[in-house]
Amino acid sequence: MESKKVHRISIAVFFVLVLALLYFRVGEGGSSIWPKGRVSGDSNQRLVMGTFARIVAVAMDREVAIACMEAGFAELEAVDESMSDYKAGSELSRLNAEGFRVAVSVSDALFEVLERSVEYSKKSGGGFDVTVGAIVDLFRGAKEKGERPTEEEIAAAKEKVGYEKLVLDREKKTVRFAVDGMRIDLGGIAKGYAIDEAILAMKKGGAIGGMVDVGGDIRCFGAPGKGKDVWLVGLQDPSVEKDDMGPGKYLLVLKLADAAIATSGDYRRFVMVDGEKYSHIITPSSGEGAKKLSSVTIISKTAIDADALATSVSVLGAEKGLELIEGERQAEAILITPGPEYEIIKSSGAEKYLHGKY
Ligand code: ADP
Ligand code: MG
Repeated sequence: MESKKVHRISIAVFFVLVLALLYFRVGEGGSSIWPKGRVSGDSNQRLVMGTFARIVAVAMDREVAIACMEAGFAELEAVDESMSDYKAGSELSRLNAEGFRVAVSVSDALFEVLERSVEYSKKSGGGFDVTVGAIVDLFRGAKEKGERPTEEEIAAAKEKVGYEKLVLDREKKTVRFAVDGMRIDLGGIAKGYAIDEAILAMKKGGAIGGMVDVGGDIRCFGAPGKGKDVWLVGLQDPSVEKDDMGPGKYLLVLKLADAAIATSGDYRRFVMVDGEKYSHIITPSSGEGAKKLSSVTIISKTAIDADALATSVSVLGAEKGLELIEGERQAEAILITPGPEYEIIKSSGAEKYLHGKY
């Protein structure tokens, strides 16, 4: 996955002090709903999956918390090893190299992510499509040359794109490409999958709460750190420089319990070619960068869902994107239209996550 350190929209995670209201609600001797005496392990920022990641694990015992945190990172690393198309030796790179010639046996994890990817493709009417690799590569090349790809090049790359050209054999756990030159790019879904796996490992390891943040895609569960009652996630204001972030500079603050959030956006991360801005998210039907929205934030139960839906809605735009989200029981969306107005559009149930201005 591409390095996005400073380019992407940043979502900063922080805790809130015990809220008077919650304190009152849970009453009983002044105890919070969460056990007293819990401790947390906080990794702070570590470089994983080409971006910064942070894990907080909460447990009743310090050693358990630290072990859960490390178990979470081990999952992130494992997914990156398998699903990065930047690593020549990854399982995905091998599939991309051989998938047209032979049916390639893949791990259960990679197979599952590909199956889920096809689900999101169907749901989004082809807006989400992990077979966009050939077009993504074309634009990466264009960035290096500083020249826009020609119509012919885009048309040729489009021939190699289409989830219906991906042949998945569930019994044999093999994957095959129907067209030569096809390439899978899991940049729009692997982070979400990795976060869910990390959360699972933490729960298995005995954590009673935790938070996994990979480049601003976040999932949290259970008890937040000591003395806190909720997990709060700040959404960056597109008009504020990342270096200038701090209290009062967030666009919105969301409160999450057992939920995940992911953001896709182009106002921090794009390619300039010939003075024109290109999103790193591709509209498969046109072969062009998606530019209908400046940023898409999805809140859902799982991180894979939030991640894939955020990419999907970026391609679909506000109208069709909201239609998709309104049809999903678990998911809510907060969209920001392109600047300079940066209008905010929310799905019907998004309000319940809002903590207000910070
Ligand atoms: P970010 O990478 O900033 O977290 P996303 O989750 O939206 O943002 O993922 C964007 C990445 O997904 C791109 O860098 C590319 O690897 C891949 N991608 C681009 N277009 C599509 C698409 N239409 N469907 C699925 N994945 C895509
Ligand atoms: Mg995504």
